[in-house]
Amino acid sequence: MGKKVIITGVPGVGKTTVVNEALKKLKAEGIEYQSINFGTFMFDVAKAEGVVKDRDQMRTLDRQVQKRLQQHAAQAVAKIQGNVLIDTHASVKTPKGYLAGLPEWVLREIMPDTIVLVETDDDQILMRRLTDETRSRDKEGSRAIAEHQQFNRAIAASYAMLTGCTIKIIVNADFLLDRGAEDMAAVLR
Ligand code: AMP
Ligand code: MG
Repeated sequence: MGKKVIITGVPGVGKTTVVNEALKKLKAEGIEYQSINFGTFMFDVAKAEGVVKDRDQMRTLDRQVQKRLQQHAAQAVAKIQGNVLIDTHASVKTPKGYLAGLPEWVLREIMPDTIVLVETDDDQILMRRLTDETRSRDKEGSRAIAEHQQFNRAIAASYAMLTGCTIKIIVNADFLLDRGAEDMAAVLR
């Protein structure tokens, strides 16, 4: 049985960056992970249906549509064998409130060993979003970012209750990417 590790964190915290650095370290040790992005599985379907043009529009879709895309992605992800690392969100900020990224029916499909929360200071996330030209990141203040990070911890506790998985908090602070990557690698080893 492979390991299933879910990576979460608010948009712009640098999940993908930390994961990629950690995977480089593991590769050098002969440890392989298949790295997948949950949002991409959702987006491929949403794009084919013509309901969105870019991935950042998905969080504003009707809640029922988001849930259907989510369920579809969960089933696809569940089929992947071996060590798998799933880049996703503990909660998604929608115009109508937080949507659980890993509701019970998603967790039952995936049954992760560990859920990682990548975090850093709210104002660092604010700055990272402002300088990211590649994505339509939400424009919000550091209080709102703080609330989202707090909410993610709270909801992650419920995911641990549902699955028995462990919850690991990893800090991706400015200038300390390597420390975050090393902590991530330690979770994946
Ligand atoms: P990302 O590339 O990780 O920022 O994800 C892009 C988009 O995919 C997010 O803004 C959400 O709309 C959607 N998404 C990703 N993971 C989930 C999930 N577990 N549940 C619901 N929506 C998700
Ligand atoms: Mg990402």
